[in-house]
Amino acid sequence: MATATPADPHGFRRRGVLFVLSSPSGAGKSTIARMLLESEPELAMSVSATTRAMRPGEVDGRDYHFVDLERFRTMVADNAFIEWAHVFGERYGTPRAPVDAMLSSGKDVLFDIDWQGAQQLHQIAGGDVVRVFILPPSMEELHRRLTSRRTDTVDVIDRRMARAANEVSHWDGYDYVLVNGDVETCFAGVRTILAAERLRRSRQTGLIGFIRGLTRSS
Ligand code: 5GP
Repeated sequence: MATATPADPHGFRRRGVLFVLSSPSGAGKSTIARMLLESEPELAMSVSATTRAMRPGEVDGRDYHFVDLERFRTMVADNAFIEWAHVFGERYGTPRAPVDAMLSSGKDVLFDIDWQGAQQLHQIAGGDVVRVFILPPSMEELHRRLTSRRTDTVDVIDRRMARAANEVSHWDGYDYVLVNGDVETCFAGVRTILAAERLRRSRQTGLIGFIRGLTRSS
């Protein structure tokens, strides 16, 4: 996976951040992802492929690449996914080529994927991956949010609530865990994590040349 990026205020090269956001659906992850993308020009979104049906308001190619099962299977066979998983009885996967292209063009990449995806990505890309998990303040609040967004039937909401409990149990597979009681506060936390991770010494591959220059001139 290509990961060298030139983006840095001092012109140092650094490795791109693979920034994973997971949460039970309804915990506010999509809102925070949108806020991050709007305020971080160096960050690009990985658009997953899925076999699930499109919801009202969703756009093919923007929210997901909506594909049928046959196409999804072909992509798996062609090794076109970095990771993929079964979620809610459907399949979801991260297409590999766009992620490589974004990293080589100097972007960090944002992934809205579940714990299975976070785990697989971490196995593949290790230290380049930062895994952030967002929790709802309570299960009652999660239920309220799922009901108020009016995109799912009662049956689907019940399944999402059951799945949320399972999803939450994987909190310890993440590097950072935040509670989204207030979206602005949670967003500020997530943004701080991204800023700090970009500055990690291990990502600053161009630092050696700079240090050599510094010590030479002293
Ligand atoms: P939804 O159907 O509500 O859009 O997404 C359901 C779940 O699938 C969410 O938890 C979301 O993070 C996860 N998901 C979306 N895309 C991917 C993907 O490419 N890989 C994996 N492993 N999970 C995904």
